[in-house]
Amino acid sequence: MTPAQFLPFALPEIGEEEINEVVDSLRSGWLTTGPKTKRFEDDFSQFLGGDVHAMAVNSATAGLHLALEACGIGQGDEVITTTYTFTASAEVARYLGAEPVLVDVDPHTLTLTPEAIEPAITPRTKAIIPVHLAGLACEMDGILAVAKKHGLRVIEDAAHAFPTYYKDRLIGTLDSDFTVYSFYATKTLATGEGGMVVTRDAALAKRCRVMRLHGIDRDAFDRFTSEKPSWYYEIVAPGFKYNMTDLAAALGIHQLKRANGFKARRTEIAIRYIEAFRDLPVMLPAEATAERDHAWHLFMLRLLPESPISRNAFIERMSAEGRIGCSVHYIPLHRQPYWKARYTLTDETFPVATEAFEHGVSLPIYTRMTDGDVSHVIAEVRRILA
Ligand SMILES: *Cc1c(COP(=O)(O)O)cnc(C)c1O
Repeated sequence: MTPAQFLPFALPEIGEEEINEVVDSLRSGWLTTGPKTKRFEDDFSQFLGGDVHAMAVNSATAGLHLALEACGIGQGDEVITTTYTFTASAEVARYLGAEPVLVDVDPHTLTLTPEAIEPAITPRTKAIIPVHLAGLACEMDGILAVAKKHGLRVIEDAAHAFPTYYKDRLIGTLDSDFTVYSFYATKTLATGEGGMVVTRDAALAKRCRVMRLHGIDRDAFDRFTSEKPSWYYEIVAPGFKYNMTDLAAALGIHQLKRANGFKARRTEIAIRYIEAFRDLPVMLPAEATAERDHAWHLFMLRLLPESPISRNAFIERMSAEGRIGCSVHYIPLHRQPYWKARYTLTDETFPVATEAFEHGVSLPIYTRMTDGDVSHVIAEVRRILA
């Protein structure tokens, strides 16, 4: 039987506490960056263990831009990342006049491997942006070792990876220069729009704080507050307008408290899917291992050649017959007109990403799904692929 309600691909879980906190901000009259943003940053830093600087921004894209800028990435520099990601991972290099160098991914995990990085390194390479795709931690020891050997910066794109562990350390506390999270409406912690930039390096943190808000030097400001009037400030650079609002932070404060619970629920759903699809003509997503944890932001199946139906037809039937929203992550960057033309990219250079894209489909996986919703998705997938 076809259910009346369409099951969307993704939905944020916003509770009464989030709503009340936003209302409190509205009544307080403090709408933009203020006490709640500070509290969210402090809470976020505590969540990661307390010894990191956490800087709230209005998107992960802004955060990645700030991180690269603080690392001194500029004109003509090269930044290595994968083709199998959202365009934001790469576009931020272009903001600074630098060039992303795209590499193919591991066939099992669809993440950046240390082995793929080495051949892509040139004298102009300055940084690596590993993406913890779907929420599965990259092989970070290997990536950090390559970076160290070649003197490269590492900026982790953790847009899918909150919270995720690598070898018992939370992503965000490893030895990379920066980790950047997204709080976009569909991500594992949602503030509508928002992000967090995390680093252990005080100097890098300071540069991000200055550039996040118009290049205003807060330390210079604080130093002089006793002597200068309260309206006084100093601009030390042409900064950006990347600050988070207190309305977004109000959501983030309460989402953060529930982040581990949300993850536990997504993990339950992933396990049910994996158990239910083992005998189908699909490649299941890479699971967490003892070393590489999974936040299960996305559940990505790949239809095998013996599947009775194409990927596109599968998504259409899931929608039309099952009333279930599916998606595709990602159209690889080498298939996007801008990137393809700029670097003359072809499918042959990226066989894994090309294949994964052509047969890939993401199923709904979010905390607001009931057990009945999960059963319904399982039944429809099994029926359509039977
Ligand atoms: C969503 C996403 C981003 C960008 O996040 P925003 O907060 O929307 O700017 C960056 N990288 C990846 C892999 C993403 O999925």
